[in-house]
Amino acid sequence: MDFELSEAQSAIRREVVDFARARLGEHVAEHDRDGVFPREDWQRCADFGVLGWPVPTEHGGSGYDPLTTMIALEALGYGCVDNGLVFAINNHLWGCVIYLLEHGTDDQRARYLKPLCGGRLVGAHALSEPEAGSDVLNIQTTAVRDGDHYVLNGTKWFISNGPTAGLYVVFARTGGPGREQDRLSAFLVPADLPGVQRGQEFSKMGLRTTEMGAVTFADCRVPVEDRLGREGAGYSIFTSTVEWERSFMFANQVGAMERLLERSVDHVATRRQFGRPIGALQAVAHKIADMKIRLELARLILYRVGWLKTNGRLSLVDTTIAKVFVSESLVQTAMAAVEVHGARGYVSDHGIERELRDALGGPIYAGSSSVQRGILAELIGVRGGLTG
Ligand SMILES: Cc1cc2nc3c(=O)[nH]c(=O)nc-3n(C[C@H](O)[C@H](O)[C@H](O)COP(=O)(O)OP(=O)(O)OC[C@H]3O[C@@H](n4cnc5c(N)ncnc54)[C@H](O)[C@@H]3O)c2cc1C
Repeated sequence: MDFELSEAQSAIRREVVDFARARLGEHVAEHDRDGVFPREDWQRCADFGVLGWPVPTEHGGSGYDPLTTMIALEALGYGCVDNGLVFAINNHLWGCVIYLLEHGTDDQRARYLKPLCGGRLVGAHALSEPEAGSDVLNIQTTAVRDGDHYVLNGTKWFISNGPTAGLYVVFARTGGPGREQDRLSAFLVPADLPGVQRGQEFSKMGLRTTEMGAVTFADCRVPVEDRLGREGAGYSIFTSTVEWERSFMFANQVGAMERLLERSVDHVATRRQFGRPIGALQAVAHKIADMKIRLELARLILYRVGWLKTNGRLSLVDTTIAKVFVSESLVQTAMAAVEVHGARGYVSDHGIERELRDALGGPIYAGSSSVQRGILAELIGVRGGLTG
């Protein structure tokens, strides 16, 4: 077992941190207040290569292997104070780009990957519906075959990048005999296709620089060649790709934990009360120590997933552990950062309270913590761990 980053990975890490610190997040406080997606920063990320890190070079990407992609995303999360921008990138990569890489045809990859890597096309993942949150199989959106098209009808909501996306990965019910799992299919739906209507935009507690909205499909005719995989494979496509979403999407959170730890260490060393730095108070020092423990354990489980994927191995147990542990650890670390900063952590000026608001979504999106615990229990042999 080798825990050292390669020279190339170390260099990528340094370059990404330098880029993110110098070029991203300058207006994060205003953008967060107003709920604005930072399109210029997005394009800077595209130009730097971020939007194509895991994509082969022939399709316009950087061709990074999974572990290197994870290290680069961790560095982005560390260097970029705009967590919402990084979340938008994560949705683009793990909710859209990865579906094309894993399940797209040559023609689909040729049509969509270059504009996705280049930033012209923003990707989104349209799964959730009013009646289908954790219960993914309860999707009501329908896709009815009509000659060489499918006609889509239904509404998706809570879609990150929804208001800005140019391409949606949409899950819909195609019906047919057999198990419920075999009645869903996945489609690539460009936003400018007739029948695609962007709906309500959601104002949210955190990650406010990622836009979130509803998307309705009204007699939207999607050509058969834009179906992902075979008809009825939607659920298996979703569950196989979810490994990436539930781990790689959280790599930046490890970077954010390190950033918060460093800020907190600086603060407790310089803020003096009772005639000494507050870090000399054991109650404060222990909070910092716990931040470090969470950071290192989160990094270990994530790198393990990166290593498994780089070696072509399945990692559902590890990704489920990673999703729960990293997202909950970030919440605890952001909470501790607010506490050790006192009122400076609570007021908006220092950006610490924003970190906590941003962190709170992690245990909900990409499958809630409770659902992950149910899945994990089932994976290790507890019958009915998820569905009771
Ligand atoms: C910031 C953010 C971004 C998002 N982006 C997207 C996106 O881009 N695309 C998309 O499709 N969706 C997106 N979502 C929606 C997200 O996937 C859902 O919120 C999530 O699947 C949970 O569904 P729900 O919110 O309807 O909660 P519900 O399913 O109604 O769950 C409510 C509560 O009940 C618990 N619960 C439900 N079922 C079980 C069970 N079987 N066992 C134990 N507990 C259970 C949950 O843990 C939760 O605490 C996003 C959500 C957030 C917060």
